[in-house]
Amino acid sequence: MIEAQGLHFAYGKTPVVDDVSITARTGRVLGLIGPNGSGKTTLLRLLYGSLRPSAGAVSVDGRPLERLTARETAQHLAVVVQENGGETTMTVAEMVLLGRGPHLGNFSRTSTHDEEIAWTALQRVGALHLASRSFAGLSGGEKQRVLIARALTQQASHLLLDEPTNHLDIRYQHEILALVAELETSVVVVLHDLNLAARYCDDLVLLENGRLAGAGDADEVIDSDLIERVYGIGVERIEHRGQNHLIFSPRR
Ligand code: ADP
Repeated sequence: MIEAQGLHFAYGKTPVVDDVSITARTGRVLGLIGPNGSGKTTLLRLLYGSLRPSAGAVSVDGRPLERLTARETAQHLAVVVQENGGETTMTVAEMVLLGRGPHLGNFSRTSTHDEEIAWTALQRVGALHLASRSFAGLSGGEKQRVLIARALTQQASHLLLDEPTNHLDIRYQHEILALVAELETSVVVVLHDLNLAARYCDDLVLLENGRLAGAGDADEVIDSDLIERVYGIGVERIEHRGQNHLIFSPRR
C-alpha cells in the first residue's frame, strides 16, 4: 500500500500539489486524472520520491519513503515514465534485464532465472520479438512496451506509470492496461483518456489546480457533472455492456 498524507509541493511560489492525501491499495489500480497542468505528474513524482513534498509524507507498505535506501525503493516501486532513451546503445534485452538490478548482489551478474523473468515480461507486453533490437531504434509505442516489461521484471510490490498509453495504438492501449489491471501489485497510473480510466481503474483521484476535486471509486468519480465542471466540456455518461463511457461535446 502507498499512502500519501497532506502533500504540498510548489515550483517556486506557485503551489502545484496542494494538500493531497491518497491511498493506493494492493491489488487495485488507482488512476490520476485531471486537466493538463493540474499536477498529476508532480503528484506521481512525489509518490516515488523523485520530488520531495514541502509538507506531508508518503509511506510505502508502512515505511516512510524518505527512509528507504535507493535499492529498497526500487524493490518496492517500479516506475514507468516517458523516456526516449535516445542516447542508449543498449539492446532491448539489456534494457529489460536492468529491471533485475535491485535484486542482484553487488557485482553479481544476471542468472538464467533473471533472464526467464525478463523474457516472460517481454512476452506479456508483446515485445519478445524485439529482444535483440537496439532500444534507441524502436518506435515510441515499442519503447513504451519495453519500459513496461522492464518494470514488470523488477517485480516490485507497486507499479507507478505516467501516461503509459502515450504512443500506443488502440489495441496496445487496451492490452497494456488490461495487463496492468491484472497485476497483484498496487498500480498508480496517470491517464489522460477518461474512458480508459473508467474502464481499467478501480479508484480514481481527480485533480484540479493541484487540489483534489474528487477521489474514490472510479464509478463515483466518473460523474458527468463533476467531469464537466473540472474539464469545462459537455459530458454525457452512458452505460454499455456494464461499462461506463463518456461522450464529450464542446460547449458553445
Ligand atoms: P499534469 O501532469 O497534470 O499535466 P504537472 O504535474 O506536469 O501537471 O504540472 C503541474 C504544474 O506545474 C503546471 O502548471 C506545470 O507548468 C508546472 N510545472 C511542472 N513541472 C515544472 C517545472 N519543472 N518547473 C516549473 N513548473 C513546472
